[in-house]
Amino acid sequence: MLAERMELSRPRTPQHVLQEVRDILPPAARVYLDRVLHEGMPCPPSTPGPPDLFIGPLPRGPNHPSRPFTVSRLHELQPVCFQTAPRKHLYMLVLHTLHVLTLASHPNTKWRDLLPPLEGEGPRRAGLYSTMVPRPARDISWRLLHAAVSMGVYLARFTPIPDTCPFCGMRKTLAHIYLECARLQSLFQLLTNILLCFWLHFLPHLLIYSLPFRGPTKSWDLLVNLLLALPKMAIYKTRVRRLDEGVSFDCGAYFRSSVHSRIWAEFL
Ligand SMILES: [Zn+2]
Repeated sequence: MLAERMELSRPRTPQHVLQEVRDILPPAARVYLDRVLHEGMPCPPSTPGPPDLFIGPLPRGPNHPSRPFTVSRLHELQPVCFQTAPRKHLYMLVLHTLHVLTLASHPNTKWRDLLPPLEGEGPRRAGLYSTMVPRPARDISWRLLHAAVSMGVYLARFTPIPDTCPFCGMRKTLAHIYLECARLQSLFQLLTNILLCFWLHFLPHLLIYSLPFRGPTKSWDLLVNLLLALPKMAIYKTRVRRLDEGVSFDCGAYFRSSVHSRIWAEFL
């Protein structure tokens, strides 16, 4: 009926149509229409919600300096909005607040004395747990960072197994097994050559602490962290085979085949 009255099938100017609409509206609706046309759409009355609450660690005073080189991460956590903060962040905040004294008394790596981190450098959890790195290699990287890999030194006190390196006869320490043994030097030379393709200089720091993710080169960094994790697994596996079966595997060859199979599985 309105369409017939307005005769919308025939061209009319907008003002004419608007005038006809205005004429058939009741007075209250006409007042509302005028107000909308002159003032814009009225906003619904705002109902104030609860105020934003921010939660974060207490600022540390001079008597409680932050412990940047421990497993405590409280100094890294920034205040966040309680209503919208991710659950993981809240969990981390509560965990590190409740156990701050215990966590702050543990160094974040056993390697700090042997490989003093450079300025701004340190263990990179994200690099160690990079998505491209297979789970066994992540596990070995984490255990190596915390010196939680078996060396057989304590076992040698109670059993007749030798307490020297099974490859070169030197005294076995964590640094010797994973960095200094002569059998590793060809592997490290290979890594040096590969990392030069990424404009990186191979250092033991990089092997143990992994590479931080840098925004623009994240895809490269993912690949480099894979190339840094697999040598550790190669060293570990070839050493276990030597101890268990008495056979020698070239850790460089093991590394190359594991890189090949991982890249093949990841990108095929
Ligand atoms: Zn050795």
